[in-house]
Amino acid sequence: MDGELHSVTYVDHMGSDLTVVNAARVSFAKESEWDAIPEVGESEGILNYEDERLISYLAKHDHWSPFGHCSIQFHIKAPVFVARQLVKHQVGLVWNEVSRRYVDNEPEFYEPIEWRLAAENKKQGSSDETILHDISDLHRMCKDAYTEMLEEGIAPEMARMILPQSMMTEWYWSGTLYAFARVCNLRCKPDAQVETQMIAKGIDTHCKEIFPYSWEALRDG
Ligand SMILES: Cc1cc2nc3c(=O)[nH]c(=O)nc-3n(C[C@H](O)[C@H](O)[C@H](O)COP(=O)(O)OP(=O)(O)OC[C@H]3O[C@@H](n4cnc5c(N)ncnc54)[C@H](O)[C@@H]3O)c2cc1C
Repeated sequence: MDGELHSVTYVDHMGSDLTVVNAARVSFAKESEWDAIPEVGESEGILNYEDERLISYLAKHDHWSPFGHCSIQFHIKAPVFVARQLVKHQVGLVWNEVSRRYVDNEPEFYEPIEWRLAAENKKQGSSDETILHDISDLHRMCKDAYTEMLEEGIAPEMARMILPQSMMTEWYWSGTLYAFARVCNLRCKPDAQVETQMIAKGIDTHCKEIFPYSWEALRDG
């Protein structure tokens, strides 16, 4: 995205690849341990070959529940139209977002300079071809009108109606590893909106770093 206001910030996580293994192994009252603990900065641990294969097996056969014991929390900033798409992913995920009923500070806008042209195949959303287009005046008008309305005493919950979908929003997004894998499998694909792909790819990077074996097994392609 140009205009680079978006971000995917890692906040916290629970569990590891070993959590997934042991959640599955409890069926046989068994427990595994890391095969080795790597140097600082690398993943949490190295699994033995059987545990690595178990994770692949679980993912391949839709045994999703062991992946539900691991969770991760992000703080995300993105334009409203991206949030509107991502919030559709519901199962296994929790979302808390800033409210413009209560917050009335100056809005920030995602302001691309390059605009993608329409694609011949509508399902593709847009083509790689771009043109330059400046919407800064339009955004300034919205900001001014919003400020004026607040100055007239209009409630933020109504004044916000004039703010465009390009406005930035922010939310905490927590969920299980399995749920975020579903988000990334759908939203990192080329048929997802480019700006939404950017957020999904940020999530993808963090999950890959923290849960390397499980993530590799859960992600398509
Ligand atoms: C490229 C793309 C284009 C899209 N276009 C549109 C669009 O034009 N309009 C639109 O409204 N949405 C659109 N969506 C959103 C899409 O329809 C889904 O709502 C979204 O992808 C979330 O899917 P999910 O599987 O993560 O859903 P979740 O709600 O997180 O559900 C997870 C899984 O649980 C199961 N599940 C959930 N609810 C039920 C239920 N009620 N009954 C049975 N099983 C259930 C399903 O297996 C589902 O996959 C689009 C998504 C993508 C990726």
